[in-house]
Amino acid sequence: MNKNINRRHFIKTIAAGAAALTFSCDLRKQTSVTELDPIIGKKLFLLRYDTEHESPEKMAGFFEKAIEVHRKHQIPATFFCKGRAIEKRKNQFAAFYQEIKNDPLFDIQDHSYSHIGIGYAKGKDVPTLKADYEKSFALHEQLFGARPIGISICGTRGKDGPKLSGFDATEKSRAELDMLASLGVRMVNSFLTGFDETKVFLNYSSLGHPEIMGFPSAYSDTSWLHRRKFGDPIKYIFSQCEKRAQANEHMPLMLHDWAAWTRADDKELTHVIKITDFARKLGYQLTTHVACLKQKALWA
Ligand SMILES: [Zn+2]
Repeated sequence: MNKNINRRHFIKTIAAGAAALTFSCDLRKQTSVTELDPIIGKKLFLLRYDTEHESPEKMAGFFEKAIEVHRKHQIPATFFCKGRAIEKRKNQFAAFYQEIKNDPLFDIQDHSYSHIGIGYAKGKDVPTLKADYEKSFALHEQLFGARPIGISICGTRGKDGPKLSGFDATEKSRAELDMLASLGVRMVNSFLTGFDETKVFLNYSSLGHPEIMGFPSAYSDTSWLHRRKFGDPIKYIFSQCEKRAQANEHMPLMLHDWAAWTRADDKELTHVIKITDFARKLGYQLTTHVACLKQKALWA
């Protein structure tokens, strides 16, 4: 009995020591692991930045800080980058990409060229939408040498009318999904009638696209950080994390580059560190969107 306890304790100590060693090596080299931790069967925390501000002056320092903080604290994140922002902040995006391109903590995807709306009752016609996405994808290809395979839907309720219930809602919205598929998109927000877009992963086989993953999306920092709609931003997000953890649900967190950089209390991304530390304590596994896409058991 005693022998067993000792042995267990010994193994635990060795494991903790190895983990600490790995972590300190990572810190020293300022690089990260080659693979993210496994995600199947875990409740996932899916952090993203819709990266869309167009001013190089206002956003100066953001990418450097994001690299520093996300590596130091091993926080995976997906950056859904808007084409016109890439164009206007070319040097910043190029430098960012060079630094993170082989680091699985960072996932680079797309957010349209001009912040154009898909999935809305009104909105632009499909050829116009396609041209907009093509323009953005071409910029990715030009600057990063790779086309994106994922997009996050832009919020354009103000000018495009009400949001539909899903891509299955109208002929036009079905055609929008077909259009995205034709551009090589393999992941987009979960957007099907009857599914909770804030909670579930899904696939679009019902619309002829079993190859496309839907991912949960919610908790935009435009509401809780920018407009401070729920009082103290951290207290609010902590309470939502707790609620979701108790229900054993995934937790998406939609940040924006400009909100994280210009609306938070400091320029250290302290709120991102606090929130992700808290999520980990609640048992959440942090991951990127592309890591989810690779795990078909999650959504296919
Ligand atoms: Zn946006």
